[in-house]
Amino acid sequence: MTFKTKLTTWLPEIDIAFPGLLIILAALFPFWSSTPAYTGQIILLGAIYAIALLGLDLIVGYAGALSIGHAALFGVGAYTTGVLTLQAGFPGWLALPISAILAGCAGWLMSLPLLKANDKYVALGTLVFGLSASIIFNEWNSITGGSIGLTLPPQRWAGLQLSTYHYTYLALILLVLSIKIINTLTQSSLGRAFEAMRDAPIAAECMGIHVNRHKQGSFVMGGLFAGLAGGLFALSQGYIASSSFSFEMSVNFLLALMLGGKKSRLGILLGAAVVIFLPLMLSSIMEWHPIIYGGLILLATYVLPGGIVSLLPHKYTSKKTYIAPVSHDQKAIHLTSHTTIDTSILALDNVSMRFDAFYALKNVTLHIKPGTIAGIIGPNGAGKSTLINILTGIYTQTDGDISFCDQSTHSWATSKLAQAGIARTFQNLQIFCGLSVLENILVGLHHCHENNPLKIATGLHTKKDFTAYERAWSLLHLVNLHEYAHTLASALSYGQKRFLEIARALACNPKLLLLDEPAAGMRGADLEQLKVLIQSIRRHGIAVLLIEHHIDIITTLSDHIFAFNFGELIAHGSPEHVITHHAVKEAYLGS
Ligand code: ADP
Ligand code: MG
Repeated sequence: MTFKTKLTTWLPEIDIAFPGLLIILAALFPFWSSTPAYTGQIILLGAIYAIALLGLDLIVGYAGALSIGHAALFGVGAYTTGVLTLQAGFPGWLALPISAILAGCAGWLMSLPLLKANDKYVALGTLVFGLSASIIFNEWNSITGGSIGLTLPPQRWAGLQLSTYHYTYLALILLVLSIKIINTLTQSSLGRAFEAMRDAPIAAECMGIHVNRHKQGSFVMGGLFAGLAGGLFALSQGYIASSSFSFEMSVNFLLALMLGGKKSRLGILLGAAVVIFLPLMLSSIMEWHPIIYGGLILLATYVLPGGIVSLLPHKYTSKKTYIAPVSHDQKAIHLTSHTTIDTSILALDNVSMRFDAFYALKNVTLHIKPGTIAGIIGPNGAGKSTLINILTGIYTQTDGDISFCDQSTHSWATSKLAQAGIARTFQNLQIFCGLSVLENILVGLHHCHENNPLKIATGLHTKKDFTAYERAWSLLHLVNLHEYAHTLASALSYGQKRFLEIARALACNPKLLLLDEPAAGMRGADLEQLKVLIQSIRRHGIAVLLIEHHIDIITTLSDHIFAFNFGELIAHGSPEHVITHHAVKEAYLGS
């Protein structure tokens, strides 16, 4: 069977055409400007700030973290170039990449709080980092020259004395390259992982994506771009002083990104104009800048959350799309079949979950075999979802042992459990709203992609992606969502979202699938489709743990039912046995 899968992706037209035109127009400045020296300098600065903003967009727009210290990374780049060229005699072209790498390391340092704290404290961490850096830049006179600054030696590359014109063209070339790399990165599995963890971090973790490591990755990559921009700033201006990398500059960067528009190259170019012109427009009231910038950020968040780009006609801001496989055997369902063995795939031994003095689960012992469906029933608050949360590492049981495929899963992280073959859906839907339906499934296929950023940036990743795309399409067919492949996932109906979650979980190639009330909110034909789907999943040797209130679904599908009440297992056995059990009747109807 041959698949002709076309992996062509495209960005919204607005993000190719407009930035392209603007950059070409900028490059022609000697022909149209009556003050080319001044215009060239403005374009140079614009390109430099745009490169720095591309890095900030990775962190804020894609990965969904908040950075209030980006100017510090820009500064690390600038001072590295300054010190290397001035004190160590490095040529500028060598100092630039070193500056980018050092700023990437600084980005990693800045993201360290991620290892221990939640997002709010991480934002606080970037603030502290930014403020500390600006103090160090100002006070460490022997290295940075403090407020007096550093004057860099003029650059001669291959016998050519570099002028502002040269720098302007160098900056424009580096900007085009940076945009190209950002386009590739953000449309790869890495970009999708960033957006997934921004929209639903727990679900992303359950897809095997190590969320904190990816967030740290976004800071490192953001730092690389900021450092490159900083180095270029130092070289081209020939002089740097601490005021260019102040905390105020960090706020200005953030404001520029919010005003221009996140996740958009055109937004970045508009943002760069904000970085340059806003301080000029407000130059008479310098001391008020931080307050005005802060106020504008708040205003932008409320009034124009999508930034200026979102004001452009809607059809131009259409979502990036993937072309469907040209020929596709729709019946080729890529569900990996697992061999059914007669031992348990999952075993819980006396597992308890205590919240303070309250037991959500108490001494639960149960076994599940591959290729079987274990139904879980019980009134609301019985501890059913808690069981799934423990199995996926979102909670750690306070007592007892769990083994999966004969391995104790004690202290395994959520992403490790996912990679080992445990996938789930959520009672309260956790869809990646900012991604298309197809992309949601591709996130589940994260493990099949090339995830090395260097290989992605250099375009060496597409081969591995072919298989992943084929599987994604067949899973879409499996749940009947192929016609919605390019629809934004948030636009699906409730029932469709439930099917999407199941397909996304199947994409993880699970040995054990945990379904938390998959039929909730479904009616008629959807319920029938769901039954057929779950049966076909069982046929592939996948063990299913099915929490459901629909008595018809649970009794027709389950091989074995476990009934819970107040965290305790009150009955288990065949469907007939359990639903006629007196303790179960009592739990549902009262004595
Ligand atoms: P259900 O069977 O309806 O899925 P859950 O497993 O969601 O029930 O909840 C079982 C009990 O545990 C409920 O009383 C719930 O309030 C409690 N519970 C669940 N998660 C937590 C938590 N993080 N902290 C405190 N109590 C919790
Ligand atoms: Mg529940």
